[in-house]
Order: sequence, then structure tokens, then C-alpha cells
Amino acid sequence: MPILFARIQDDVPLKLRKGAWYRVVELNDLQAVIEVNRRKVGVLRAWLEIRDRPPQRWAVVEGKDNRKAPPPLRGTYGVCPNCRARTPLPKKARTHQCKKCGNEFEIDWVEAGIKISG
Ligand SMILES: [Zn+2]
Repeated sequence: MPILFARIQDDVPLKLRKGAWYRVVELNDLQAVIEVNRRKVGVLRAWLEIRDRPPQRWAVVEGKDNRKAPPPLRGTYGVCPNCRARTPLPKKARTHQCKKCGNEFEIDWVEAGIKISG
């Protein structure tokens, strides 16, 4: 099997981190098994976006229903493509450096449907 990565689609009732990419370890027509913190988790394939490599960009997660998140993460936040750290993103910035792993990536505002003006 080729190396694949997956992330959950919006509005999926799973306690997985939105915007974070997980390694796919098994895949069939209906189900995928992904590795989450070294554990295997079975997920309906329809709930996942699957790619052969995760984009090296900050995923933007729009916080509509994340009232239980820590205060800095309420509202829109980013997920680091390298270490999955979550962080508030500076508005209008095109790139952001991860405080946890130190890597700098572009921010995927377009994919999140957020337009940057100016
Ligand atoms: Zn990072």
C-alpha cells in the first residue's frame, strides 16, 4: 500500500484534531484505519480527506463549535503540518512560524475559504 495521509472532514463527530494529518495504515472501499498517537483508529472513509502527502501548510480551522477549546483557540486557529500543534494565527499573515517545532509554513487561508485583503 502506498503511504497515505488523511484528515477528518468538517462536522465529523470524532474526537480527532481537525486540520491535522494522520498516517493511513489500512484502507478499503468503506473504511480507513489511521494512526493516532501510535494507536490504530478505524474511521469511515467518507469522513476523511485522503492524500498521498500532507500539504506543508498551516491548516486553518474555523472555530464555530469549539467552545470547549482553550481560550486562545476559540475562533479560528491553525494546525501545524509538521507537529500538529494548534495555535492562533496572526490575521492577514501569509506565513507563520510554529513555536513548538520552529518550522515556518504558509497559511492555507484559501482552502479555508478565508480571503485576505490587502
Ligand atoms: Zn510545528
